[in-house]
Amino acid sequence: MNLCSSTRCALLFLAILFCSAIGVGAQPTSQNAPRDQTTLRVATRDIAPFMFHEANARTGFSAELWKAIGAKLKVQTQWETYDSVKSLLGGVQKNQADIGIAAISITSEREKKFDFSQPMFNSGLQILVRDQNGDANMIAGLLSVFSPALWRLLGFVLLIVLIPAHIIWLVERTHPNGIIENRRYFPGIFKAIWWSAGTLGAQADEMPRSAIGRAVAVIWMFSGIIFVAYFTAVVTASLTVQQLQGDIQSPNDLPGKRVATLSGSTSSAFLRDKNVAPIEYSKIDDAYSALLEKKVEAVVFDSPVLLYYATRGGRGQSHVVGTIFRKEDYGIVFPRGSKWRKPVNEALLDLREDGTYQELYDKWFASESGN
Ligand code: GLU
Repeated sequence: MNLCSSTRCALLFLAILFCSAIGVGAQPTSQNAPRDQTTLRVATRDIAPFMFHEANARTGFSAELWKAIGAKLKVQTQWETYDSVKSLLGGVQKNQADIGIAAISITSEREKKFDFSQPMFNSGLQILVRDQNGDANMIAGLLSVFSPALWRLLGFVLLIVLIPAHIIWLVERTHPNGIIENRRYFPGIFKAIWWSAGTLGAQADEMPRSAIGRAVAVIWMFSGIIFVAYFTAVVTASLTVQQLQGDIQSPNDLPGKRVATLSGSTSSAFLRDKNVAPIEYSKIDDAYSALLEKKVEAVVFDSPVLLYYATRGGRGQSHVVGTIFRKEDYGIVFPRGSKWRKPVNEALLDLREDGTYQELYDKWFASESGN
């Protein structure tokens, strides 16, 4: 019995020694290839051209990049689909997924709650607007006649008109043949204002009789010629510019406009910061439809996503304007402290170095970069 138990002890001791020598039961020695999990739950959402379904298969730049990373890591993928970036991040945070990949921007706010891979794509925010056709141009032109700038100009002109009107009223009402017959301020001043405005815009219908009145009339008539020329030039130029460019060119043109974006996105946060209350959709296709159906005047979102649409489905109906006004990088997201971050980063760098990344980039973005 004694002998037997000491034999068992010796065998156990030898077994432990053997196991520790070959590393059984120890943590994976290399973080690069964790072997205890072969199927990763990968959270994603459909956002062309980064991620979408085609004939029951996942495709898009991020889908194919992930497949290449997965092949390097020798892991299987179980896709978990979410309907917004917000819910996707929520899933990762609650550990319902091991990894998230789509078109997820790395932000300081998200960095506090998650781990991110190295940037996997340079992106940024831009504006998409409708193409204007001839009729729309005419209407836009007519509407611009009522622009605040024009009203300001008219207000200023009315004030300026009052100056010669008062001089004429003052000198002409006391002149025996003066053009202001009524000596009282009202209604005499009305006639003087009528004379002043008419002289500025067209020509004087009556000449003042007094010397001062005539001097004022001559100066005022020349001012009229300059005013009409200037006014015509300003209106023509502003109509031409508006017809060529549309009236949305940068984020500064967005306040007061109906602007669509996606809920929970960085664009939504950006617009709110700029005091533009966006109309939010969860699918980018709904935002595009709202633009084409004239429910909104612009879509603010990730530049590569908008460019992809503008050069394909939305070609001839929409275009992006201005430059990228906020640069952002996309990353692969992990729950905090994930052991997968380092191996994924290494695979990502490998794919850049062996040319796979460039091939994927050219496949999905070649025509946009050529634009
Ligand atoms: N890149 C944006 C973000 O991370 C939009 C992502 C999306 O809506 O899928 O907020």
